Amino acid sequence: MKSLTWQGKRNVEVGSDVAQLAVGDRVVIPFNISCGHCFMCRKGLQSQCETTQVREYGSGAALFGYTKLYGQVPGGQAEYLRVPLADYNHVRVAEELANDRYLYLSDILPTAWQGVEYADVPEGGTLAVLGLGPVGQFVLRIGAHHEFRELAVDPVPERRAMAESHGILTDDLTDTVMDELRDLTCRRSWRIRLTRSRCRVSPLTTRCLTTLRSCTPPFNARKMAASKSF
Ligand SMILES: [Zn+2]
Repeated sequence: MKSLTWQGKRNVEVGSDVAQLAVGDRVVIPFNISCGHCFMCRKGLQSQCETTQVREYGSGAALFGYTKLYGQVPGGQAEYLRVPLADYNHVRVAEELANDRYLYLSDILPTAWQGVEYADVPEGGTLAVLGLGPVGQFVLRIGAHHEFRELAVDPVPERRAMAESHGILTDDLTDTVMDELRDLTCRRSWRIRLTRSRCRVSPLTTRCLTTLRSCTPPFNARKMAASKSF
């Protein structure tokens, strides 16, 4: 067997071919399944793993808990999870923190981190986050960690409130919000980076990151910023 069974926080069973894990190990399992030794994996493109990719549908690497387009591998939200190629598909975690401090390593925290990397915010630039769901919220925390100037947009008041509780300027999703973002950066050039390849710029509720060249806001924008909205 090349699998382990995982119950939320601990290995409860380990297959006979698994060499690096033992029952009781504390691990996080990423949602995409890859082999670690094919051409794509060696290039760091595990989501296109040539061993597990679903060629029948022209998809990338197999995923837990998804449809036949990605291999129909059970799990993802399950109480127990059988993990193929387990020696490669795990992240061993320490013992000192609670489960919820490690849980997001499985998906959305790395997604957010990589999105910020792709945004490639220049020195003195501004990071605009369009869509403040879980990934967007993580993006804002990561941007704060990097000490970027940040602006955030979402139509849901509770999401904006969460961002504002961390000192982030927010705005509602309106027809004029993109113009307002430009005003806040002196209408200088900007680049758009997306956290997922199929993400579209419009509608803005998708997970989009935008980097803008920063500046001293013009008078009206500064006034709006002072009132904690654009
Ligand atoms: Zn591979």
